[in-house]
Amino acid sequence: MTQALRPGPIEALPLALDGKGRAVVIGAGLGGLAAAMRLGAKGWQVTVVDRLDRPGGRGSSIRQGGHRFDLGPTIVTVPQGLRDLWAACGRDFDRDVTLVPMDPFYRILWADGSSFAARQGDAAMEAEVSRLSPRDLAGYRRFLADAETRYWFGYEDLGKRSMHRLRDLFKVLPRFAWLRADRSVHAHAAGRVRDPRLRFALSFHPLFIGGDPFHVTSMYALVSHLERAFGVHYAMGGVQAIADAMVRVVTDQGGRVVQDAEVDEVLAAGGRASGVRLADGRVLPAEVVVSNADPGTTYTRLLRHQPVRRWTASRLMRSRWSMGLFVWYFGTKGTRGRWPGAGHHTIVVGPRYREHIREIFQTGTLSEDMSLYVHRPSVTDPSVAPEGDDTFYVLSPVPHLGHKAPVDWQAMAEPYRQKMLKVLEERLLPGLSACVTESLVFTPETFRDRYLSPHGAGFSLEPRIFQSAWFRPHNVSEELPGLYLTGAGTHPGAGVPGVIGTAEVLAALVPDAPGRDATALGMAAE
Ligand SMILES: Cc1cc2nc3c(=O)[nH]c(=O)nc-3n(C[C@H](O)[C@H](O)[C@H](O)COP(=O)(O)OP(=O)(O)OC[C@H]3O[C@@H](n4cnc5c(N)ncnc54)[C@H](O)[C@@H]3O)c2cc1C
Repeated sequence: MTQALRPGPIEALPLALDGKGRAVVIGAGLGGLAAAMRLGAKGWQVTVVDRLDRPGGRGSSIRQGGHRFDLGPTIVTVPQGLRDLWAACGRDFDRDVTLVPMDPFYRILWADGSSFAARQGDAAMEAEVSRLSPRDLAGYRRFLADAETRYWFGYEDLGKRSMHRLRDLFKVLPRFAWLRADRSVHAHAAGRVRDPRLRFALSFHPLFIGGDPFHVTSMYALVSHLERAFGVHYAMGGVQAIADAMVRVVTDQGGRVVQDAEVDEVLAAGGRASGVRLADGRVLPAEVVVSNADPGTTYTRLLRHQPVRRWTASRLMRSRWSMGLFVWYFGTKGTRGRWPGAGHHTIVVGPRYREHIREIFQTGTLSEDMSLYVHRPSVTDPSVAPEGDDTFYVLSPVPHLGHKAPVDWQAMAEPYRQKMLKVLEERLLPGLSACVTESLVFTPETFRDRYLSPHGAGFSLEPRIFQSAWFRPHNVSEELPGLYLTGAGTHPGAGVPGVIGTAEVLAALVPDAPGRDATALGMAAE
């Protein structure tokens, strides 16, 4: 699959019409590919360059021993964002990718043996809430109403427009104040429901995009509305199937996606971005340069020869970064149908929550206990594992590498994996160790080296209020005209819908290609 997508050498690229209208995108993550699609639709001749061997970035996959390990995103919310992206390119998303709705969305298991299944449909959800804490039903309904209000403002309005001018921020401040965006999402849930487990179930979601629920703005309550209104989906073939389909759109538009090629530097001429230099010395000239690399990497490495005023290395160092991730990918033999309590998505909550979160985000220490997200795609997608077998990944949030005494993962990875195995055997998958046939571990050090992620953070800058909207690196660079930014570290932020959104905001800031001629550029006319 990857082989088929690998394009020819960069030298073989056709010249853009009249030598104009060239755009280079650094990074084939979902944000970079979405930006490439949108620029292609605006007539730009796009070249995407990525240092990895396949597209998708964190959303890519690795095949090993007959298993496909989807490395990152597993939950697809708001499919409309993807449908809109495809439609902007004259294409039909549902012809290219099959999404399967999940029900339950996920199950949460607590250490005391209790559980909660997030379900599709109000009646099913309310039945679960009543089972867990009948006195909280009214508060739960109020929380959902709050979530919807925040959705209309935070997702549909703020999330879809550029926030690069200070006046954009001033315009929205009164609304932020009215919605108590200064309050944390956990505090907001605690103001509506009393059961601590329900507070968790309504407010843990920022962890999916790298945020501390005790500090991230209550705007993120909107995720509960996203789940309720649009469901939770799985992409057959994994999110890799979405990334592969994006590559097909880009190539149909006349663009190229070049893997195994690292950008070393963004070039400038006459005070504007003028292209990129690859690590092997080749130069790709372009009138528009888009970086899907982390903004920390973009400003400290790729722009190292340009003057930088706002996003200096020291400012980036002082910023709050999302947590790191320890992920164990493994395959098991002959287990299909076993462990009925382990569905497609399970959250295994450790014995401590608030303290554990504090250790991850504040003190930067590796906790003795752990809370886990368990992904078992073989429940839904037989193509992910050999017949009768299962494919899993288990994720534990851990401190990033930027704290005072970072964890030495060379030494700690195996003991930590062993501890994870023990927790899994006790809480969800008894007898697991005897069935494991394939194993692969990612630590924050892998994230640092594989994705060039500052501090090995899982999701770039943490989505705190003073690191959101105008405060986040802008989609049009503050530092170099002609440079644009997309992806998790930019506005509106991380997560599949978030990074697809960053490309939408970015594309509205880029003009149509000069002398645009959609037919000549080979745009799909489906
Ligand atoms: C384990 C995990 C689970 C997740 N689960 C979910 C989920 O269930 N649902 C959800 O919505 N979100 C989830 N997320 C978040 C989501 O995956 C990310 O926010 C999103 O995929 C990030 O996309 P991106 O485009 O910003 O960047 P990335 O995916 O990081 O892509 C950036 C790309 O740029 C390339 N690059 C960087 N520098 C250079 C350079 N100098 N030259 C060439 N290439 C370069 C990198 O190789 C990479 O391919 C998860 C993330 C992780 C890590």
